[in-house]
Amino acid sequence: MINELLEKFGIHHTHSGVYAGDWITRPEGMEIESINPSDKKPIASVMSASRKNYEQVVASAVEGFEKWRKVPAPKRGDIIRQIGAALRKNKKDLGLLITLETGKILSEGQGEVQEMIDMCDFALGLSRQLHGLTMASERKDHRLFEQWHPLGIVGIISAFNFPAAVWAWNSILAAICGDSSIWKPSTHTPVTSVAILGIVSSIMRENGHADVFSLCISEMHLAAEWIAEDRRIPLVSATGSCEMGKVLGSKVSQRLGRSLLELGGNNAAIISHSANMEQALRAVLFSAAGTAGQRCTTLRRLFLHDSIEIMFLEKLREAYRGIKVGDPWEEGVLMGPLISENAVDKMMWAIQEAKKQGGKVLTGGNRILDKGYFVEPTIILANPEMQIIQQETFAPILYVMPYHNLEDAIRYNNGVHQGLSSAIFTDSLREAEEFLSYRGSDCGLANVNIGTSGAEIGGAFGGEKDTGGGRESGSDCWKNYMRRQTCTINGGNQLQLAQGVRFDL
Ligand code: NAD
Repeated sequence: MINELLEKFGIHHTHSGVYAGDWITRPEGMEIESINPSDKKPIASVMSASRKNYEQVVASAVEGFEKWRKVPAPKRGDIIRQIGAALRKNKKDLGLLITLETGKILSEGQGEVQEMIDMCDFALGLSRQLHGLTMASERKDHRLFEQWHPLGIVGIISAFNFPAAVWAWNSILAAICGDSSIWKPSTHTPVTSVAILGIVSSIMRENGHADVFSLCISEMHLAAEWIAEDRRIPLVSATGSCEMGKVLGSKVSQRLGRSLLELGGNNAAIISHSANMEQALRAVLFSAAGTAGQRCTTLRRLFLHDSIEIMFLEKLREAYRGIKVGDPWEEGVLMGPLISENAVDKMMWAIQEAKKQGGKVLTGGNRILDKGYFVEPTIILANPEMQIIQQETFAPILYVMPYHNLEDAIRYNNGVHQGLSSAIFTDSLREAEEFLSYRGSDCGLANVNIGTSGAEIGGAFGGEKDTGGGRESGSDCWKNYMRRQTCTINGGNQLQLAQGVRFDL
């Protein structure tokens, strides 16, 4: 299956992982092996970039930008439409490749490609709507307005868990805005990124713009550091852990560059006594155990009203027993493996810590000694004072805690450093409104009767506090990828100064 799939994408063993207007045939960095987390076997290897290769990538992206920004935005939109069509054609195979490389189940692998397609459709519409405002001028015969220009090269640093969608959020918007981009993906998912560049670059080449999208796979974080320190790259969009964001964000800010940070979450849901319990149960199940707990929006903390705690927990434990863990490409499997041995070790460590701090494992808690990095989805009865619940463990551990007053539950929801996603399940309008008010959730995403994960591309995605404050994907996020220019035109014969200032000779 793997060889056939690689062949379809034209990926040979030790394929180049560096694209600069074309594949650099022999990149001079180390060989990086992609491992299938379901059986620990290699999928393929790619050759990574040396510093010299990185310079070639930047030179190509500079040239790409110079040409691309001259193309009228609706014409750029037409080329992005063609990319969307190519992705539609490759959806099944690309989705399967994502499943193999990340361990996410089939429908989630396909869903990720759908998200890329949705971004292309969204960007096509945007290509005729990159508009600025006209403001009323205080001066007679003056016109005050703003316009948006392409920004330059966008550096995209992405995490392993969304190896395709996050690239599309950034690169497709950047492209519609007239920018070129350089992508440094996670070293866990090099093959997916090579396959994507293959699809996208063939469309771009046909249209005479092969150097708009580039790829720079590197050993460890090297290319991310080069990008962060590179003044030729005005915007660095980085998705990953809060630790990464702190290091990378400060490097970019030292050179006064712009950064767009999409970092870790520690998401919570509140289940009120008035909630539709079946609906809440299904949402909790997907949010907490879906993608094996490896989404930034994964539900990690669950606050149950004390009047329904026992009943809900019983149903939840029963539902957890029904989660089939196994090879993610098999129908019926709901949970694949974690990404690596290190991820399994971190999960086991967190469970031990939780126990030491007074937590009680209600379900799961073990690694599954199989061929891959499999674990049991885990529920831990906890309390809001436990230190361990402050941190994001990127694994399927759900900490459950009772509450009595909604005000307390909202305080617990907000009582962590991260601020990405949050949800309340309730049939009470008053409770829902309280949760969404300024006194309510402090997260970038706040949902009612919907789980914490699985956002649509149409909204702005991102979070507050240590999650980094960035917003990507829908709404007006395109503005991140352009530079705003405020223009004042004097259509009269007099020179008037603002605020009534006089400077007459
Ligand atoms: P990670 O932080 O280990 O790596 C993410 C990317 O940053 C990789 O490309 C990596 O090479 C690079 N990187 C890591 N440390 C770096 C450093 N010190 N300097 C320069 N570059 C560095 O994250 P991961 O394990 O791949 O992904 C999981 C994390 O990503 C979780 O915390 C998750 O919540 C977060 N995430 C956030 C979002 C979001 O939109 N908010 C989306 C997906 C994942």
